[in-house]
Amino acid sequence: MTEPARLSLNTATVKDQWTLTECIEACVRHGIGGIAPWRDKLIECGVDEAARRIRDAGLRVSGLCRGGWYTVDGRLSDAVVDDNFRAVDEAEAIGAECLVMVVGGLSPGSRDIVAARELVAEGLQRTLEYARLARVPVAIEPLHPMYAADRACVNTVGQALDLCDMLGTGIGVALDVYHVWWDPDLAAGIERAGSEQLLAFHICDWLVPTNDLLLDRGMPGDGVIDLSGIKGMVDATGYKGLIEVEIFSEHDWWTRDPDEVLRIMVERGRSIT
Ligand code: ZN
Repeated sequence: MTEPARLSLNTATVKDQWTLTECIEACVRHGIGGIAPWRDKLIECGVDEAARRIRDAGLRVSGLCRGGWYTVDGRLSDAVVDDNFRAVDEAEAIGAECLVMVVGGLSPGSRDIVAARELVAEGLQRTLEYARLARVPVAIEPLHPMYAADRACVNTVGQALDLCDMLGTGIGVALDVYHVWWDPDLAAGIERAGSEQLLAFHICDWLVPTNDLLLDRGMPGDGVIDLSGIKGMVDATGYKGLIEVEIFSEHDWWTRDPDEVLRIMVERGRSIT
């Protein structure tokens, strides 16, 4: 049974309904232990104001979404580097337990995924040097391979860990079940990461059928992912972080009363052993 205090609300789950302030108040109301803001909601609230409200509410911050997008300019541009430095600053200001990285897909007009991956490694290295000084852990989120072209060319836990091992300390993995549940090497990857490199754990569910490959994620329990099984693998590492619920759902959960969304989220959490 996963108690609500172990859960974290990724603000994307109710992105169309609530501001960050409303999300913070709702977490307290529902006994949810943490929050993971997206940067647009954070900026809208004001970083210092958000930091104060989160602290006053007694919430942990399981992560800040998100940095990365290293390939968007076809090279490591100043704009991209600076934006990632700002993301580190924001993560530090709100006491985020990690900065989640969606690293970027192919550069515009390119068919060279090897070059994209090299650019990503170079970008992560630059961000990491800065993040280490701020003591903000950097968490690479491997994305499902269907997003390799347009969102992230890091697609498995093993690939992300190879990058981490190459880059050194201060970097690990954000494990999102939506992206990795299918991977035959998942158990080995989680064990290899251990509690040192496992920096975040995101849950939702894979619906069958899935009507939109980005915006039709399911509420935990409504799909085919063995959430208790994967949580068992995560727990076995000694992971002490929160379990973050991150649901993009244009036609279902984003249209509902957000208090109902949180109530069901808490209920479903309890059914994850
Ligand atoms: Zn995620």
